[in-house]
Amino acid sequence: MNLDPSAAFQAKSYSYLEPNGKEPRLGGELREKAVWVDESACIGCRYCANAASNTFVLEPIMGRSRAIRQDGDKTEIIQEAIETCPVDCIHWVPFEELSDLRAQLDELDLQPLGMLPKSHKRLKSRGN
Ligand code: SF4
Repeated sequence: MNLDPSAAFQAKSYSYLEPNGKEPRLGGELREKAVWVDESACIGCRYCANAASNTFVLEPIMGRSRAIRQDGDKTEIIQEAIETCPVDCIHWVPFEELSDLRAQLDELDLQPLGMLPKSHKRLKSRGN
């Protein structure tokens, strides 16, 4: 077999980095802002999770949407999810505010959607 040794210098050494159509459809792009769900206003309709399924999931206990990662979907897809939210509770925020916003949510005594209130007290029924 007669090989040309110069072929080694012509071959692309990082050809696996080039698009081949088998990549996951994740955005992976850097953004200036982070996406955040105000869970106190979320009604659990799932529109956002359907639009940007790599970014939003419905938290199983509370039934409210949460952005679980920042690089899961392209900006346009996340923006589409934001625009589908019927209560406008998804926002672009500075990354450095995420932990404070999370802490503020944790301070609220949010209740799971679709559950009865924690209090078992109720008004006496009015006899007719
Ligand atoms: S679209 Fe809005 S209200 Fe509906 S689940 Fe997502 S964040 Fe909640």
